[in-house]
Amino acid sequence: MAIKVIPIQPGRVPARAFAGGALADTRGRPMRDLRISVTDRCNFRCVYCMPREVFDADHKFLPHSAILSFEEIARLAGVFTGLGVQKIRLTGGEPLVRKDLHKLVSLLKKLPAELTLTTNGSLLARQARALADAGLDRVTVSLDSLDEATFQAMNDADFPVAKVIEGIEAAAAAGLGPVKINMVVKRGVNDHEIAAMAARWRGTGHIIRFIEYMDVGSTNGWRMDDVVPSAEVIKRISAAWPLEPIDPNYAGEVAERWRYKDGAGEVGVISSVTQAFCATCNRMRLSTEGSLFTCLFAQSGHDLKQMLRAGASDEAIRNEIAAVWQGRADRYSEIRTSQTSSLKKVEMSYIGG
Ligand code: SAM
Repeated sequence: MAIKVIPIQPGRVPARAFAGGALADTRGRPMRDLRISVTDRCNFRCVYCMPREVFDADHKFLPHSAILSFEEIARLAGVFTGLGVQKIRLTGGEPLVRKDLHKLVSLLKKLPAELTLTTNGSLLARQARALADAGLDRVTVSLDSLDEATFQAMNDADFPVAKVIEGIEAAAAAGLGPVKINMVVKRGVNDHEIAAMAARWRGTGHIIRFIEYMDVGSTNGWRMDDVVPSAEVIKRISAAWPLEPIDPNYAGEVAERWRYKDGAGEVGVISSVTQAFCATCNRMRLSTEGSLFTCLFAQSGHDLKQMLRAGASDEAIRNEIAAVWQGRADRYSEIRTSQTSSLKKVEMSYIGG
């Protein structure tokens, strides 16, 4: 899919100098969280994200020259933290397929931000120690089912559950826990596994989070009927082990937290579809090739790579990022309809999940 990217070049009128102070968008939202997609490639073909019919042998992934180098990412991340970003998440595609990712972690570790990673876990067992040694703070691992046939039907890459669990355990042993485990719930596909997943992670210290299936990109054939509302997830778990809501860890936390009344830990639900959290969304996304997106459901981004490679100063880049954030008005999940879900949106593997 051709992605519309608005060029930001030194040739055009530069953004107004950012006056400093607290940066807020048109709805008063601060910029706190930066997600960086380090690759658009993935070794899984999850049916809800990178369906094999679309991301097949003919699919053109970005050439190496088009993607940001580790040094370019670290430089931009430094500008972002200077503007108030407090948390950086590395994602993709599958971030661990990018060679020597721990080297990027060491560069980012110098910044005053919490550093996290979202992965499908397939390569985590062998990389967890190097990532932790390089300074990664925590990991989130995606795992959609404990049942082999269901998991393989979802990842469409013949990847076994046991290997992902090995990755989760290696991460915890390396000090990257408690691990958050993301399960995308799709009705009729893996919703029969909700209770089994809750049971598997209860009492382990790790936190399972149930994510409503979203209409990201335009290739996954999303239908509202496929969404299992978080309220239903909580009801189903509570029937076996009563839950009660707890306060968020920080303002703008996306997952709603629930704890087991018997003290066996907590679970989270992420309800982008049934309870939009646009009003508190404080996330910026940097795509693999260096474009800025202010919404997961965006149709266009702002090109920073051109600016970087044309020799722009940190100050000029800072002004551009501040101007993009100050002009931000998106609230896609609040206005989602069956019409908006069929818009040509940027794929999650490109923008970073
Ligand atoms: N490859 C990594 C992984 O699997 O975690 C990182 C990228 S992935 C796009 C990030 C997260 O987005 C994963 O937890 C994935 O399950 C979730 N995701 C992808 N497509 C989704 C969709 N349509 N609805 C809800 N979550 C989705």
